[in-house]
Formats: sequence, C-alpha cells, structure tokens
Amino acid sequence: MAFEKEIKQRRTFAIISHPDAGKTTLTEKLLLFGGAIHTAGAVKSNKIKKTATSDFMEIEKQRGISVATSVMGFDYKQRKINILDTPGHKDFAEDTYRTLTAVDSVIVVIDVAKGIEEQTKKLTEVCRMRNTPIIVFINKMDRDGKDPFELLDEIEEMLSIKVRPLTWPIGMGYNFQGIYNLFFKSLRLFNPEHEKIPPAISFSNILDTEIDSHIGETAAATLREEVELVEAVYPEFDIDLYRNAEIAPVFFGSALYNFGVQEILDTFIEIAPSPSPSKTLERTVSPYEEKFSGFVFKIHANMDPNHRDRIAFVKICSGRFERNKNYYHVRLKKQMKFSNPTSFIAEKKEIVEYAYAGDIIGLYDSGNFKIGDTLTEGEQMHYTGIPSFSPEMFRYIENGDPMKFKQLNKGIDQLMDEGVAQLFTNEFNGRKIIGTVGALQFEVIEYRLKHEYGATCKYEPIHLYKACWFASKNKAQLDDFKKRKYQDLAKDKQKRDVFLAESAFALEMAQQNFPDIQFYFTSEF
Ligand code: GDP
Repeated sequence: MAFEKEIKQRRTFAIISHPDAGKTTLTEKLLLFGGAIHTAGAVKSNKIKKTATSDFMEIEKQRGISVATSVMGFDYKQRKINILDTPGHKDFAEDTYRTLTAVDSVIVVIDVAKGIEEQTKKLTEVCRMRNTPIIVFINKMDRDGKDPFELLDEIEEMLSIKVRPLTWPIGMGYNFQGIYNLFFKSLRLFNPEHEKIPPAISFSNILDTEIDSHIGETAAATLREEVELVEAVYPEFDIDLYRNAEIAPVFFGSALYNFGVQEILDTFIEIAPSPSPSKTLERTVSPYEEKFSGFVFKIHANMDPNHRDRIAFVKICSGRFERNKNYYHVRLKKQMKFSNPTSFIAEKKEIVEYAYAGDIIGLYDSGNFKIGDTLTEGEQMHYTGIPSFSPEMFRYIENGDPMKFKQLNKGIDQLMDEGVAQLFTNEFNGRKIIGTVGALQFEVIEYRLKHEYGATCKYEPIHLYKACWFASKNKAQLDDFKKRKYQDLAKDKQKRDVFLAESAFALEMAQQNFPDIQFYFTSEF
C-alpha cells in the first residue's frame, strides 16, 4: 500500500442545500478557515439567478465560472480536503446527483427558519441510497426560526435519519448568544459586531455556575434544561453509526457571521471518512490498491465556440494517477494518456503530476468520454452507482432539417452521453423522446445542436407524467404487461425497458394490476 498515507488524509465531500440556505456562504467560510482563500467574496456563487431562466446563455456563462470552483481543495490540520461544488439551480439537479456519487460524505445546510425544503429532501434521498454519511449544519441562527427540538424531529422524520446534536444554540435571532459544545463542554459566545470570533470557554460540566456569568441566569437555566433533555433523548454520538449513515451529527451556527464554522470543520476532519471502497460490476475496489482506477462522473462542455473542448471530471477510486502515463479506457478498449490533467485548488486550476484516490481530476476531452466511463491500468471493470433518475419533463424531438439528419443524431447522442438529458425511443411509433429534470435543458439542447453540430431540432409536446424502468421475474406477467401497454413502452439508450406513464393514476394502476412487476425511478436497481 504505497500511497496509504496520502489517501488516508483525504476528505472528499459536498455541501448540499436547498437554494438560499447558505451553501455558498458556508463553503466560503470553510475555505477561509482552511486558509485556501483570504478574503470573503472570493468564491463565486454558482447560484443561477432566478431572473435568468429565460436566458440560458447567461446561465451557461455562470456555469462556466463555476467550473473553476467545481472542486475546491485545501489542506487543513494534516488533512487534504476536497469540497465538490454542486449547482444550486433545480434544473441542474441531475448534475448534483451525479456529483454526489463522487463524494465520501456530505454536509447538509438547513435554514433554521425554513427547515427541510424540497431540494434538501431530494438530495439527501440520493445520499441515503448510497449510504453517504451526513453532517447537518443548521444555519442562520442569528435570525428567528424554528424551535431546535422541533427542527431535529423534522429532520429525523423527513430525511429518515437519526440525529445527534453536537452543539446546542443559546437562544436565536436577536437573542442568539452563542453555542454550547456538547462534546467539549465549551461555550462560544456570539457577537455580531465582533469581527473575530472569541475563543471557546471550557467548563468542567454544564452545572458550572460560571456559565451564568457569560449568558445570564435565565439563559443558563434554559441551556441546562435543554442540554439535559438532549442527553436524555439522543444516544451518545457513535462515529461508526455516523459512518454507516445511520446517524447525523448536528451543528448550529451562522455561516454569515463565521459562527459555528470552526466547530463543524474541526469535527468534520476528525470524523468524516477518508476514501471508501467503490463498487464495480465485477468487484469492490479498495482505495488502497496499488493500481489506479477511477470513473467519469461529470462532463462539462465548453459553450464557447473557440474552445470546443470538454472537461471530464474523474473521481479517483484507487491508487495514484500520473500525468502522461497510459491508462485503459474500458468502454472504448483503448489506451489513453493525458498530458494536462488539472486539479482545482480554490480559485486556480493547476496541472497535476500525481493525484490519489479521493481526488478529483479534470481531463480535457474531445469526445471520448461519457458519464460513468471507467479508467484503469488495464483491468476490465466497470464502476457502478451513477444512476439516471426518472425525468419529469418530456418532449418529442424531431429533425428540423432533412439534410442534417446525421448531424442531429450525432449531436443528440453526444449530448446524452454528457448527461444533459435522457433519450427514450418509443417502441410503438419509433419516435425519440427527450426527458429532463428541468425545462432549461430543452433550450440548451436546441442551442447546442445548432451551434456545435449544425443541426436543427424541433420539439413536439408529449403528455407524460414519468418514465420509469421496469423488470420482473414473472415472465408471463411481464409479457402480458408489454402486450397491454405496447403504446406506452420505450427503450432507453442502453436498450432497457421503460414505461411511459401518462399520469400518476396510470402508474398506480400499472403497479396495482401487475404486482409482480417492479417499477424503478432510478436506472440502477
Ligand atoms: P446558497 O443558495 O445555499 O448557496 O445560499 P447563499 O450562501 O448564497 O446564501 C443565501 C443568502 O442567505 C445570502 O444573502 C446570504 O448572505 C444569506 N445568509 C447565509 N448565511 C446566513 C446566516 O448565517 N445568517 C443570515 N442572516 N443570512 C445568511
């Protein structure tokens, strides 16, 4: 295990939240604490402005900026931290889902006033599918919000995970006085006027009367009561349960005021897992294996016509990647080497000589990669765990220029490989259907087909509720289903069976009438 030390130091994670909960602010504060940046405002929000929905070129420009901050790496207390950025815009949710396949843990940011919101729920569901360990940061404590106990119940219920607070807030909003660290039994006082956060004050235990002198008798009494309740209701924090994604430690703070950020960062580097084993179709791969392997989880195309190249983001799953060494592209069965692989350190992109399991590298690509591709030192194996999700918006796509039929097909093919949307072919009428998670993708596809492939597409409406994959061991029932629903069946790009449900009711009826058929909402089952 030649690279054990390097790999053990790595902590690769993502910060996820519903837009506006404070993901960008927290990311920036972590980078500040980690010394990766020196001024606030250095991290460009990759948030796409709401007004921009009709102008996707503007959005692409913003996305272009965000490529530079796709992965932010920094060193902190002998750890190498990689933060993977995720697009906040809902129309790019699929991008975020895929990014989550490349992390070993996540921090979920929740707005204390809003509690669990739609995107928080969806993104944590993806984490739950993959058993990704979760730390929760309850943000904006400087504002009034929900009662902490209620919020913890809400998290347990809506995110289906047990929680264990590791810090506890003293008041909130105007009355927010700070947090008590349940683990270190220390107090950190909040003062929005102070530029520097004062050091934590330690006590032998919560009964120490000195606490009263800092926060007042009433607040101290409330704190004691609440801490007693916390200790009684929630079991001791157990790192193994956290790493198995069964329990989520919870922190309170205010990212805007840098408050509670040190606590979460210091705990994070202690408890967050280093790179964990990854699954391939053939076997499970340990990060400590000598030989390099990794997979493509994201492809970013450059919309600038002068720079047509794309960047394929590769998560290294084992061993060490070296610049200019030959690696095996499993799907294409060909050797490839990369002369300018890049790593991403805070604001700057750099060419890397070496990168280790846990790291993300960007490879310039002229069309060799698609999402999910595996690179190895020669072994035939295929990384799994990058599912497609049931799209929610659909349109027929037709050729708008009979002379450009080939270009259109090539364009559609490549855009789908990049993961812009999903393509289904209706088995009944042979028509092609594009399925997306956001309306914006339709515009992106049309624009890119025109500008990159010289092809014109036309959309036609199709009324669909959901496309889902299906399978069954009961062949007779499967045949019967296919016979009866022959107008509503399609194949995806991998030629898997897909049911095109017209309505929630149609899907429900299918599930009821064909109990031996399983319907799946992700492509991996
Ligand atoms: P994102 O969409 O999750 O990345 O959210 P941002 O980090 O961009 O934050 C959204 C808004 O909330 C911004 O106006 C922030 O200044 C504000 N914000 C973030 N953290 C806090 C906080 O702790 N307290 C308060 N009062 N506002 C915050």
